Amino acid sequence: RPGERLAKAIARAGLGSRREAEAWIEQGRVAVNGETIASPNHNVEPGDRVEVDGRPLPERERTRLWLYHKPRGYVTTTHDPEGRETVFSILPESMPRVMTVGRLDINTEGLLLLTNDGGLARVLELPDTGWLRRYRVRAFGKTDANALGKLKEGVEIDGFAYGAIDAEIERQQKDNVWLRFGLREGKNREVKRVAEHLGLAVNRLIRISFGPFQLGELPEGAVEEVRTRTLIDQLG
Ligand code: URA
Repeated sequence: RPGERLAKAIARAGLGSRREAEAWIEQGRVAVNGETIASPNHNVEPGDRVEVDGRPLPERERTRLWLYHKPRGYVTTTHDPEGRETVFSILPESMPRVMTVGRLDINTEGLLLLTNDGGLARVLELPDTGWLRRYRVRAFGKTDANALGKLKEGVEIDGFAYGAIDAEIERQQKDNVWLRFGLREGKNREVKRVAEHLGLAVNRLIRISFGPFQLGELPEGAVEEVRTRTLIDQLG
């Protein structure tokens, strides 16, 4: 954000409204880099030191986003009433305070996004972002391309309507089948319910992508910060 009006910078830091900030500037209560500035139209650059009544503006932490490879066996809530371990208890110690973008079930593995910005988390987990979420699914049972193909039209199960799912067989083992599912919504237990509807019992579920973000070779339990600022700024 190169160059910004002084009054706006003060308001954005949360100290007061833009009009209040303009009044403080006119009253000589605002300094930039140690010099009193009397014009609200004064432009401040990133890195300028702005003070009101001699106190620096609180730094607003910038939005950050991480990819996380969630292991199975951990819940995605901050606190579990049943006392099960949460992903927050096993994040690397170097991590700041973060929240998850949506949730994965306790026994689901794979890509979970983490962010320090609650606003961004809410935007990304909205079902109508329409982002593709891809899963590898291992399930007990057998199915075929015909049954899977029908999922493209969406299914209704116990009164819940699920949107189009792209599903294909990766390989059939003795009693298990490995599938790939691609869906554009994140309804509660969606993959398991749809698989069950096909007569399959899911015993492994791995999310491999979420919108533009890929699990790739990220090791289990590891985090990796997304460094593409333009993408994060667009999303936030
Ligand atoms: N579908 C499920 O059933 N569980 C998940 O954790 C994610 C998608």
